[in-house]
Amino acid sequence: MTPALLEVEALRVEFPARGGALVAVDGVSFAIGRGEVLGMVGESGAGKSMVGNAVIGLVDPPGRIAGGAVRLAGRRIDDLPGDELRRLRGRRIGAVFQDPATSLNPLYTIGYQLTETILAHLDIDAAAARERARELLDEVGMPATAENGYPHQFSGGMRQRVVIALALCAGPDLVIADEPTTALDVSTQAQIIRLLKRLCAERGTGVLLITHDMGVIAEIADRVAVMYAGRVVEIGPVRDVIRTPGHPYTRGLMSAIPAVGQDVDSLAQIEGSMPGLHEIPTGCAFHPRCRKAVEICGRALPGLTPAGASRVACWLREGPPAGGQGRA
Ligand code: SF4
Repeated sequence: MTPALLEVEALRVEFPARGGALVAVDGVSFAIGRGEVLGMVGESGAGKSMVGNAVIGLVDPPGRIAGGAVRLAGRRIDDLPGDELRRLRGRRIGAVFQDPATSLNPLYTIGYQLTETILAHLDIDAAAARERARELLDEVGMPATAENGYPHQFSGGMRQRVVIALALCAGPDLVIADEPTTALDVSTQAQIIRLLKRLCAERGTGVLLITHDMGVIAEIADRVAVMYAGRVVEIGPVRDVIRTPGHPYTRGLMSAIPAVGQDVDSLAQIEGSMPGLHEIPTGCAFHPRCRKAVEICGRALPGLTPAGASRVACWLREGPPAGGQGRA
């Protein structure tokens, strides 16, 4: 059987601390196929960016991958030496981060940065790299004159187009896009999302899209994983999860999105806030905020169980375990 493009299995990321390790990512598993967009959504502190960083090998010390495995096209990559991982980044895994200004060097022209990145990853000469850079700028909708411009001469949306060109310049198998539109205005957001989706679909590139915005997920993703306190609490086809969310946290996220044309005095919100790493509750970590919580929720951790085409980690779906014991 052909392996999925990206397989993440029981990933665990820890930070050492006095009194025991703090767990930022706890047993996260998912897969992404070629040309597929998996959205990863949750509030700040849910651990979604840490998953992206772990996949791309950018967990800052003293944080570390303490368990699980990451495979790209069947090959394990989480245990590669640093220089091999650096070669992999850019060539086989591209990245688009929130603020395009931090991804571009203000001292060099757009054309120079693209050409140098292409030369670093592909075995072609300078003239071919310059030609490739021009083609890429055209594909992302930048004017031909952009190659001679500096980053500060362009708007945030234009700069993010250049970052997408940089991420795709070596023809990667996978792109990790972490809040790629958060710094942009709403109309530019939509353009960038559509551009990323189209270019990745044309190339068969898989995308891990990390965002706090369910609207962005609805626009671009094929499937969505909802994260809470370092764990995936629901994963499934984006239509199913949006139309019939199975986890109370997902339902809370959905009800917090204002409906167009609806006249409301105040927006719905989930009471409370995401727990810090040092205060993750036992059992279902969402239980202090959950209106549906029952006795077992605070003492045993529900596993992901099938719910239609999705999987949901909630005792209301699973039913209490035999003998009243779950994972502590
Ligand atoms: Fe709420 Fe319990 Fe389900 Fe957690 S397991 S989401 S606390 S009902």
